Amino acid sequence: METIAIKTKSRNEFVDLTREINQAVKKSGVQEGFCLVYVPHTTAGITINEGADPDVVKDILKHLEELVPAGKRFLHAEGNSDAHIKSSLVGVSQVVPVSAGKLALGTWQAVFLCEFDGPRTRNVLVQVVPSGK
Ligand code: ZN
Repeated sequence: METIAIKTKSRNEFVDLTREINQAVKKSGVQEGFCLVYVPHTTAGITINEGADPDVVKDILKHLEELVPAGKRFLHAEGNSDAHIKSSLVGVSQVVPVSAGKLALGTWQAVFLCEFDGPRTRNVLVQVVPSGK
């Protein structure tokens, strides 16, 4: 398993990790299989979406903020319930097929770490599992 440590810069931010994850896949030597990407955090997530037009990520972040506004009254006293809820909405992992030694992503797809309570250092775990063809 590989761990990618990422320092995020904003409270809410998506960080494109496609290149780093493909490097981890290459390092594993697996040609055909699956790649699990997982964050062991309660206020972050992993998603796959368009990496070409940065406005897509801006729209996602803006509308998540509208769905779960930070200023609302929540029970959790830490003051970051919006981040916990966004983490559960997005999810903490993705599984991507590996083919010919690379992530089998679509042309416009990228794998993002989703930060909802930054800035912080986040660990992204990458586990590559071989399979038959
Ligand atoms: Zn909390």
